[in-house]
Amino acid sequence: MKNLTWHNKIITKKLKSDQKKQTPCLIWLTGLSASGKSTVANAVDSWLYENNYHSYVLDGDNVRHGLNKDLGFTDADRVENIRRIGETSKLFMDAGLIVISAFISPFTADRNMVRGLLENGEFIEVFMSTPLSTCETRDPKGLYKKARNGEIPYFTGIDSEYQSPTNHEIDIDTSNLSVNEAATLIIDYMTKHDIVRKT
Ligand code: ADP
Repeated sequence: MKNLTWHNKIITKKLKSDQKKQTPCLIWLTGLSASGKSTVANAVDSWLYENNYHSYVLDGDNVRHGLNKDLGFTDADRVENIRRIGETSKLFMDAGLIVISAFISPFTADRNMVRGLLENGEFIEVFMSTPLSTCETRDPKGLYKKARNGEIPYFTGIDSEYQSPTNHEIDIDTSNLSVNEAATLIIDYMTKHDIVRKT
């Protein structure tokens, strides 16, 4: 790369996160469509905001329409989608933020690739293990109905594989928890690992 100089940062990630009195991390919610990723991500985000922490939610709405609007749903595009989300999360964490991402991210290799971008302990994988039957009954956007009718090919859980995590930090099945109870499981984990403090 010509004409590009890498400037040493004076204000480090540690200084930025100390200023915010928090430890940057990436809360990675993975699971089927309608398993509750976005709902729980926003509940955690609200708790963090109300408790004066600094966070950001990455989800399909703000990533697929902007940064990744050139990507589709081929295998190669799905890999690139997750890679960009991982790199973006890393930049946000460099700014001292707690990042919460809500993407189906069906493939183990992709999730592990993002884990590999970060320091030990920074990647907190949350498996939204809500069963397919509950997700399909909820069907808030009518996507399962369309997938069953063949209108959406390669829909995860119907005709495209979802690889369940095996080395995740937190397991949340929202079929038998309220949104608040689900969010509390994540906040309790963050408290236990000194990422935030409950006051
Ligand atoms: P995803 O982001 O995984 O596709 P969403 O959060 O968009 O899922 O949708 C989950 C749907 O399930 C929402 O309509 C939400 O209101 C509903 N829901 C019912 N109970 C819960 C719960 N305990 N946790 C999360 N979502 C729930």
